[in-house]
This record gives sequence, structure tokens and C-alpha cells, in this order.
Amino acid sequence: MRTTFLSAAMLLIAFIGIGSDSAYAAKRNSNNATTKAKEQALQTITMDAAKAHIGFLASDELRGRKAGTNDAQVAAQYIISLLRQWGIKPLGDSYTQPFSAYSMEWQKRKPWQVHPDSIALLKQMPHRRLNMKNVLAMIPGKNTNEYVIMGAHFDHVGCDPDLEGDSIYNGADDNASGVSAALQIAHAFATAGVQPERNIVFAFWDGEEIGLLGSRFFMQTCAFADKIKGYLNFDMIGRNNKPENPPYVVYFYTAAHPVFGDWLKNDIKQYNLHLDPDYRAWDKPVGGSDNGTFAKRDIPIIWYHTDGHPDYHMPGDEAQKINYEKVTDISRAAFLNLWNLANEKSY
Ligand SMILES: [Zn+2]
Repeated sequence: MRTTFLSAAMLLIAFIGIGSDSAYAAKRNSNNATTKAKEQALQTITMDAAKAHIGFLASDELRGRKAGTNDAQVAAQYIISLLRQWGIKPLGDSYTQPFSAYSMEWQKRKPWQVHPDSIALLKQMPHRRLNMKNVLAMIPGKNTNEYVIMGAHFDHVGCDPDLEGDSIYNGADDNASGVSAALQIAHAFATAGVQPERNIVFAFWDGEEIGLLGSRFFMQTCAFADKIKGYLNFDMIGRNNKPENPPYVVYFYTAAHPVFGDWLKNDIKQYNLHLDPDYRAWDKPVGGSDNGTFAKRDIPIIWYHTDGHPDYHMPGDEAQKINYEKVTDISRAAFLNLWNLANEKSY
């Protein structure tokens, strides 16, 4: 009896041992497969694709993509057609999230409002209304209770018919460059085919130039606002603010998460990215772009930005002035950031 029991126990120990060994090997294999998929997806982010996206969005035909115009909606439809083609599903029932902003009549014009209380007040007097649409898509994660969001605004400031000469504000840097990064990253995640740990939302904002309206409306109506673990933003990532140092890029991130800085440092080394970031840890990164909407709700953010330049909000912000090598490497670095945001256990 005793002998039998002992050998059975020994067999069991041996079995558990073998079991955990093979479980370890299976985990290692799946980790290797995941790393391989990530690295192959990284290679799908190319300079040619950046040129195509920015070239189209910043072309004269899109007339500066002003919020509330058909020109901005052409940009939105371009983004939607690509998301659909790559098999990335809408966040809600449709890819678009329509919203309206209100303001006083033009002589007393004040900032556009999207908050229901402000809208109710404005509706009692002569007012202006502007209809816009965000574009929202999602790759569902294994843990459907946690979200990370990557975003870039697609609207710009339009045209000025009274301007003599070139009257189109093309917005190649602001923010066709950021949209191109967000598109390439969405495509890379679709190509990788690895289900992330957390849900990844791909957001293309309307109305940023007139008061961060798209991201504000989104957060004001978001049913999962308290489940957002991080927000990654792009706004103006294509110019050389320091001509003597073309790889210069400003990397803003929430100071309470120093690991965001470590991620980029490691990825630049490991993947040989040609970037020279100015690491700017920021206590409350509320300024500049749609990152502010999320930072105000204490959501950790990362924001890529290549700083101001003389063509900022001018008709000269054109596609031929973009540093495409830099846009491509920022897109790759940010893909790796988003991979970490979506998959790292904690940060
Ligand atoms: Zn912008």
C-alpha cells in the first residue's frame, strides 16, 4: 500500500514537473510568436504609406479640411474606408460619432460649445450651429474592461478666399502627419493579428482647431471614461523645428509614469530608430492638443509633437516640406508605445 502510494505520489510529482515544463515551453513559444508578429507589424509602417496619406489629406482638393465642411468629411471618409478595408471594426454601431457645437451669432461670436448646459443656454438666443463627426474604431482586447486610446485630429483651418495667392491652409504637418501615424499604427495592429490585453480605440478627432471639440464631446459622453488606462496623441509630427537636428521630436508624457520615458529609450535602441527626443515629463499635460481633454480627467498621456515652425497655421504648411523619415520613425516608436500601453500588466 505504502509503496504504491509513494510511487503514485512520485509519478504525480514527475507529471506536475513535466506539466509545468511544457507549460513553460508553450508560454515561451507563444511569447516568441508574439514578438515576431509585433516586429513584422512594425515593418509594415513605411515612408511610402506616410507620403500617400499625407499627400492625399493635405492636397489642395481637400481645401484645408475645415471642421463642419464637406472637405473635412472627405478626410473622414478616407479614414473610414481604410479602417474597413483592414478589418478594424467601428467602436459603436457606426464608424462616425456625429456631434454639434453651438456658439453665439457671429457678431458676438465666442468659443464653440459642446456641453449640453452651454448648448441649452445658447439655444435661447440667436446662435450658430456646426455639425461634425469623429471617426472611432476598436480592436477588442482580452480584458474588455480596460481601454487605451490613440488619437489624432483630422480637421484643419480651411481656406481664406480673400487671401491673395495661395488661399489653402493645407495642414500637412497640422495634422495630416499625425493622422498618417495613427492610420499606419491601426494597420500594423490589424496586420499583427495578436489580440491585445486591453481594448484599443483608434480615434480621429474633428473640431480640434476650434476648441478640441471632438475629443471633448467624446469624453463627455464616454460610457467607459473611468476604464481608460492611457491616451496616446499625435499633433504635428512632421517638421524640423531645429534644422540642424532633423531627428528632434518632443515627447511629452505624464510625469507620474516615468516608465513611458523608459519605453521610448529602450525601443529607440532596440529598433534602431533615428529619433532624438526631448523627453518632457509633465505634471498635468493639459495644453496644446487633444491630450489635454484626457489629462484633465487624470488619464496618463503620451504626446508626440515636433514643435512650432513658421508655416504653423499658414498656407505654407504643405506636404513637400514634411520630413517623412521622421514621421515614419515616430509612427514606429508610437506603435511600440501603444503595444506596451495595450499589453503591459501595469504602468
Ligand atoms: Zn493640430
